[in-house]
Amino acid sequence: MLQYFMPTRVIMGEDSIKKNPSVFSEMGKKALIVTGKSSAKKNGSLDDVIEVLSKNGQSWSIYDKVMSNPTVECVYEGASHARAEEVDYVIGIGGGSPMDAAKAIAMLACQDITEDQLFSGNYGKEVLPMIFVPTTAGTGSEVTSASVLTHHKQKTKIGISSPVLFPDVAFLDAKYMDDLPRDVTVNTVIDALSHSVEGMLSVRANPLTDALASVSIRMIASCFEALKKFDLSRKDRENLLYASTLAGMVISSTGTVAVHAMGYSLTYFKNMDHGRANGVLLAEFLRFIEEHLPDKVEQILSYMGMKNVDEFKDLLDELLGLKEEITLDEINMYTEITMPKHNIKNTIVEPKKEDIFNIYKSSLC
Ligand code: NAP
Ligand code: ZN
Repeated sequence: MLQYFMPTRVIMGEDSIKKNPSVFSEMGKKALIVTGKSSAKKNGSLDDVIEVLSKNGQSWSIYDKVMSNPTVECVYEGASHARAEEVDYVIGIGGGSPMDAAKAIAMLACQDITEDQLFSGNYGKEVLPMIFVPTTAGTGSEVTSASVLTHHKQKTKIGISSPVLFPDVAFLDAKYMDDLPRDVTVNTVIDALSHSVEGMLSVRANPLTDALASVSIRMIASCFEALKKFDLSRKDRENLLYASTLAGMVISSTGTVAVHAMGYSLTYFKNMDHGRANGVLLAEFLRFIEEHLPDKVEQILSYMGMKNVDEFKDLLDELLGLKEEITLDEINMYTEITMPKHNIKNTIVEPKKEDIFNIYKSSLC
């Protein structure tokens, strides 16, 4: 049985925010703008949103304290802000961190959910409407129903997920990425690539998600040379943004698999950016899958115009540069943390404990 659900309205193109003011006025009188500390103020996205709200005669309040890898504490603080300001809807602007925080804030502003219940998956239907403006091309959070939060008590990152968390509207405008630095660009592109590759290696993959993933992987691969030189045109930026949204549509159905489960410990304990954490593991994960399903891996590599996993690993090594050091004790600890994660069981070939250990080891030792 084939199932696919995508309720988010996607509006793509240059100046798409300014050309669609009614999308904002239809949401209510007052917005909570959820964003990170500084980039939205510099890349034009916040200015465009405020210009539209002002022209529409709408009011807004800004919550701009979202850090990278947002914490549980941050989303409760944002939700208190939303309640105090009595907002009607949420506008999330930024990379995956502000967008993920915005989703949790939109739900916590309407429902009394304790911290213990937050990861239970049992939520009511009440949520503030959401408009999202991605300013990185990587997470696809603008079209997924997941919000990934840092949970200090469990020393890891965990996703909350519910159909009510799908944003209502996503505006895709690559002009906000003109000055995205090299490291954020590379890490986020690799995150998007990882989403499409993992989506194809999920037990929930289907012909529709595979079709989206294949286009996404090909589009990302068409930018590999420009990425290596870090000489990206606006058209490349548009292709990467489109590809990352397609990859988000893939994982909204398939979920992510072992790579994301493993990457969370590298982010939590080694402070590695999310996309980088996936990138350092992806090639060795493909090698593990290849042992069981060589045709599947050959197909994925062919979308990138590559003949073998070594070629792919060379590319990732070139893009990611010198890797962080990791000890065997650390690998043992991360393996223990990774094994119970639901993305492990979601992997087309379910890795055993020693497989997870070996992927970490061959990737980072
Ligand atoms: P991010 O943490 O949102 O942003 C990384 C850095 O880039 C921040 O310093 C940010 O500035 C800056 N930045 C953002 N846009 C910029 C722009 N246009 N120009 C210049 N700088 C810019 O990174 P991300 O990789 O996009 O998101 C990672 C998060 O998303 C992780 O928490 C990950 O777990 C989550 N994620 C969620 C999903 C999902 O389905 N929900 C999927 C994958 C990943 P500011 O400090 O100003 O924000
Ligand atoms: Zn990701």
